[in-house]
Amino acid sequence: MFARRPFEMLQERQAPAYSAALELTWRAGWPAVVVLVLLAAVAAALAWRWHNRYARPNAIWWSGFVLLFNVPGLIAYRLSYEFSPVARCVECGVTVPRDRDACAHCDKPFAGRPYGVRKYSRRDGVC
Ligand SMILES: [Zn+2]
Repeated sequence: MFARRPFEMLQERQAPAYSAALELTWRAGWPAVVVLVLLAAVAAALAWRWHNRYARPNAIWWSGFVLLFNVPGLIAYRLSYEFSPVARCVECGVTVPRDRDACAHCDKPFAGRPYGVRKYSRRDGVC
């Protein structure tokens, strides 16, 4: 919008100079920019929250990715990670992902098999 519209305004002689055309374009389009920036901030916050909830590394990079690419970035983030079930750790009381053998917060081993993880055998598939 901000790249093409000022040139169109100049060609249509709606503005005397490029700076005036850019200013007119900004006046017409700033609410859309504000909405997009707010949407990107909410999407990045959501990615940050999910990433930290599942105790995954590099939350800042993923949040930056989502901030840059907005809702499509959030969709890409969501598709790239399969969410695992979470449960409260009996040792520390923090809600942590249960797809591993130990708590992501206190590192105490869980009793029993991790949730949401399939163990495969070579012979007959899922066991
Ligand atoms: Zn714990």
